[in-house]
Amino acid sequence: MNSQVHNNDVIVIGGGIIGICASYYLQKSGKKVVLLDQNQVGTGSSYGNTGWIVPSHSIPIKSPGTLQTLKWLLNPKSPFYIKPTFNIDLWDWLIKFRKYSSSSNIEDRISLSTKLSQESLNLYKEIIQSENIHCEFEQKGIIQLHNDERSFEEGVKDAELLRLNGIKSNILIQKELKLIEPSIKSNIYGGIHFINDAYLNPFTTVSSLANIFIKNGGIIYPNTQVEDLHINGNKITSISTNKGIYTSKYIVLATGAWSSKLMKKIGVNLPIQPAKGYSISFKNTKHTPTRPLILSETRVGISPFNNYFRAAGTLELSGLNLKIAPKRIESIKKAIHSYIDIDLKNSSEDIWCGMRPLSPDGLPVIGLTSKIDNLMISTGHSTTGVTLGAVTGKIIQQLIDNQKPLIDIEKLSPNRFI
Ligand SMILES: Cc1cc2nc3c(=O)[nH]c(=O)nc-3n(C[C@H](O)[C@H](O)[C@H](O)COP(=O)(O)OP(=O)(O)OC[C@H]3O[C@@H](n4cnc5c(N)ncnc54)[C@H](O)[C@@H]3O)c2cc1C
Repeated sequence: MNSQVHNNDVIVIGGGIIGICASYYLQKSGKKVVLLDQNQVGTGSSYGNTGWIVPSHSIPIKSPGTLQTLKWLLNPKSPFYIKPTFNIDLWDWLIKFRKYSSSSNIEDRISLSTKLSQESLNLYKEIIQSENIHCEFEQKGIIQLHNDERSFEEGVKDAELLRLNGIKSNILIQKELKLIEPSIKSNIYGGIHFINDAYLNPFTTVSSLANIFIKNGGIIYPNTQVEDLHINGNKITSISTNKGIYTSKYIVLATGAWSSKLMKKIGVNLPIQPAKGYSISFKNTKHTPTRPLILSETRVGISPFNNYFRAAGTLELSGLNLKIAPKRIESIKKAIHSYIDIDLKNSSEDIWCGMRPLSPDGLPVIGLTSKIDNLMISTGHSTTGVTLGAVTGKIIQQLIDNQKPLIDIEKLSPNRFI
């Protein structure tokens, strides 16, 4: 029990990919950093995902039409699911989401997102090389598969838009796909190969960074839940946890899908919704694909790792909970079989779900709030938290060190939702 922990430069709350990258860069710049997590580090949303670092994912999720929304509301098997509920925060979020989806600045958001993700990819490469981290990092690109002509045409249009922002891709017809990945089914209409995308094993990456952080003198307190933040004037003076009181000059909030709940306690409104997704990791499979695939129409992603291959998908707005819905697992398995030839009968399965911190405009929320001078918000990374981990960590360090951030983050400010 750490009843009193003082004299730190920075306390980072939350040990997912965002919190650990921020801790890494802050420590590198000479800060005394303490990291707190309510569980073990890396076991939140950063655990069982597909690990993609994808500048190609810079187009925000489009808002569905009203009819489509109603269909999803009624269909628990759809790739997006909104649980019918009277949760005011969820409805407020949905209204904001609609507003941003139809706003005219989508191109600006795509441009900012591509800059952030490309910078992040460079930073990951630098960290992995300089720290000699073995995290299954590969840069073979990602192939987006389409089994329907119309969705393929839409995919090609999006790829054009991304190309204007420096994201390279090759359009592939069915025969070409088969040559690259023989396991792809013959009925697939076409594909788009985003050649510079990369991926890594997310949990191995977080754990490796945590080990480096500890080796260099950082302190991690697992099973330490922040229960409240105490404010005097415009500063947080202390943090109470289930293990005692902590103080430091700066606090970094990297609590992912739990962020709004904690911020509510101090009157800061962060419209971040938990968006549940599932993954299945299959062991003992034969003829698995050799690179990540997107099964477009079903929104399922596949990543081959050293000892297993992982399929992940669905986006479920059903509040803060980790209940597994068997129907979603079945939908993911069905999706796999409709795009690739693979025998899963003798494989073992590890089923997981996690909650993405979903912001209404698809951009992360980074920076100070107008109310508190020493609370650095770092959340809302939505469907691309792994992608943006390194660049976010670097920017947080630069902001705390009063340096100019490597990318202008004005549009990421927490104050944009007020
Ligand atoms: C199925 C699925 C697939 C995905 N695939 C990809 C992908 O391929 N590429 C990609 O870029 N992104 C992907 N994502 C999104 C990505 O996983 C998230 O954006 C990212 O993990 C968010 O990181 P985080 O550090 O903000 O949150 P988390 O990893 O959830 O970490 C937050 C941490 O805060 C801790 N915490 C919360 N509240 C408190 C408290 N009060 N006190 C102390 N600790 C607290 C939690 O225990 C947790 O460890 C995927 C997500 C899902 C669900």
